[in-house]
Amino acid sequence: MGGVAALFNRLSENTSSSPPAIILFGSPGSGKGTQAKLLRHCVNGPHISTGDMLRSHIEAEDRIGKDSEKLLKAGRLVPDEWVNELVEKRLAEPDCRMGVILDGYPRTLNQARVLMDLLARSGFRAAVIHLMVDYEKIVARLSGRRQCPVCGTLYSLKTNPPKVPGICDLDGAALVTREDDSEPVIRQRLSEYESLTRPLLDYFRKAGVPMFEINGAGAAPEELSGQVCSLLQSSGVIAIANKTAHPRASVTT
Ligand SMILES: [Zn+2]
Repeated sequence: MGGVAALFNRLSENTSSSPPAIILFGSPGSGKGTQAKLLRHCVNGPHISTGDMLRSHIEAEDRIGKDSEKLLKAGRLVPDEWVNELVEKRLAEPDCRMGVILDGYPRTLNQARVLMDLLARSGFRAAVIHLMVDYEKIVARLSGRRQCPVCGTLYSLKTNPPKVPGICDLDGAALVTREDDSEPVIRQRLSEYESLTRPLLDYFRKAGVPMFEINGAGAAPEELSGQVCSLLQSSGVIAIANKTAHPRASVTT
């Protein structure tokens, strides 16, 4: 693990001018995507979602899109090398100069190693936001979702139920459970996260990457995002990047 520590030392040496790379980390259903979007008000840079990037390649029907679609349809994962390449190209774009928010990446140890090396070479400073949500809460929330197959409206049996059970308020169609929201599928994704992705937290810790643990179910999304933002500012992770763009947002520590 000496290599990792050495890598992070190099990372830390890029002091005042280094833009932050905020890694949003958490299980499926922990609200990473929502937080990533909300945090754009706080971090001066784009929200990079590898899932969205792959989807747009699939829509564009280019080579990587066609190849990825074949794999995903067969229930397989897109190779790390392809995802790494997409992220490397994206980080080199001009809108990333002040910072980035990463969502859904890295997902494997191999991706994390490649990313740390890439961030060090490109002069970014990494920080991890770990959104912790109890798995049972995630299963209860996602498996309680119902969708209208006609108009697409989403209902939640607990927080936003239809007026008549099982029937869409708008058009009277019978509601369905999307395959992604069925309990076995959710549990499968959570167990993949537990074995493949969660171990990255240890890797980041050993690499000395600053890490913030947040109770992802502790507050409404907007409030949570405000908490994360003040944490990032008070710890100095984003104060530096914001000094140039928003002088009043700089924080004394
Ligand atoms: Zn409907």
